[in-house]
Amino acid sequence: MSLKADLTTADLNEIRQTALGTADPLGVAADLGRAAENGGLADPQDAGLALSLAAEIAESRSKLDAAQRYADAAVSAYGDRDDSQSAAARALRARILFRNGRADEANEIVEPLRPLLTQQPDAAAYVTAALVVGGRARDAEKWLTEAVQEVVAERGVTEPADADDAGVLFFLLQQRHRLRHALGLQHDTHDNLAERLETRLANAGAQSAAAPAADLVFWPRAEFDRLVKQTDAYGATWDEHRARLEQELVRQTGAGRTGLAVLPGSVDALTAQAGIGGDPVSSDNRAAYARTLATGAARLPWPPERNGACWCGSGLKYKKCCLPRSRG
Ligand SMILES: [Zn+2]
Ligand SMILES: [Zn+2]
Repeated sequence: MSLKADLTTADLNEIRQTALGTADPLGVAADLGRAAENGGLADPQDAGLALSLAAEIAESRSKLDAAQRYADAAVSAYGDRDDSQSAAARALRARILFRNGRADEANEIVEPLRPLLTQQPDAAAYVTAALVVGGRARDAEKWLTEAVQEVVAERGVTEPADADDAGVLFFLLQQRHRLRHALGLQHDTHDNLAERLETRLANAGAQSAAAPAADLVFWPRAEFDRLVKQTDAYGATWDEHRARLEQELVRQTGAGRTGLAVLPGSVDALTAQAGIGGDPVSSDNRAAYARTLATGAARLPWPPERNGACWCGSGLKYKKCCLPRSRG
C-alpha cells in the first residue's frame, strides 16, 4: 500500500486515528518512514511526527527493532527543538529502549523529562507510560503525586469548578487515578477529586448530546474485568456496573424514552477509538466511543421479558438478575 504524496499535518493526525484499523499497519509505518526521509511531507518540520507515528505503529505490532529505528530517527529529526512534540518523541524513544532491554539508556532519557509533568501534559503522558513499561510504575505514581501537589499548591486550596477550570491538574489527576487503579491502590483525596471532576465532565457531555448514550454502554463480564484495572468510571464492581445501568434505563423510561437498548462495549475497540498514543479511558474518548456504539448495530433491546434471559449475559432470568438491581 502507499500513502498519498505531500502528507499534511492533518493527514498525519488522521493516520494516527486510523492506522491500526487498516489491513497493513506496518506498511503504513514503512510509508511514513519513507515520506519523512524522502521529502514526502507537505511540511518538512513534520518529519519527527511522522517517524514517531511509525515507531508507535511498529511497537504496537511488536516489531521492536523497527520501532527503535523509527524512534531514534524521530529524535534526530527533532534535533534541538524544544516543544512538547519533541519531548514526547524522547519519552517514546525511552519507552522502546525499555522494551528492548536497554534500561540504562532509557532511564538517562526519562529522568530529565520529569519537570514536563506540570508543564506539558501531552508529553507527560509519554513520560509516565515509559516509566510503566520500564517496570517503574511506583515511580510514575510518585512523580504524578508530586506534580499534583505542586500544581495544587500553586492554585491554592479552592477546588476547581470543572475539568476546564482544573486544566493541567485535571490531566494529572486522571493519569494518577488510572495508574493507582492499575496498582490496586485505595482511593485517596486526589482520587476522589479526580472522580468528582470526571463525573461533572461526563454529566456536562450527557446534557449537551441529543441522546445520553454514554450512560448505556454495557461491559460484559470479561471486558469489565479488564477495564476496571484502568478506570472505575463504570462502577467499582460488575454488580455495581449492572445496577447503575439498569437504574439508568428505568430512569430514562420514566422520562418518556422508548426503544431503549444496551450497548455492549469491548476494551479493544475502546482502545482503538483513542488512536495511537491516546488515553482509552479519558472522559472524551469514552464519550466518543459511546457515540460510535450508539450508531452501530450491536444493541441489546431493553427490557427483556421478565422470564427471558437477562440482558447482562449472566444466563439467569431477567427477573432473577438485573431487574431487581433497579431497586438497589
Ligand atoms: Zn477510582
Ligand atoms: Zn443480569
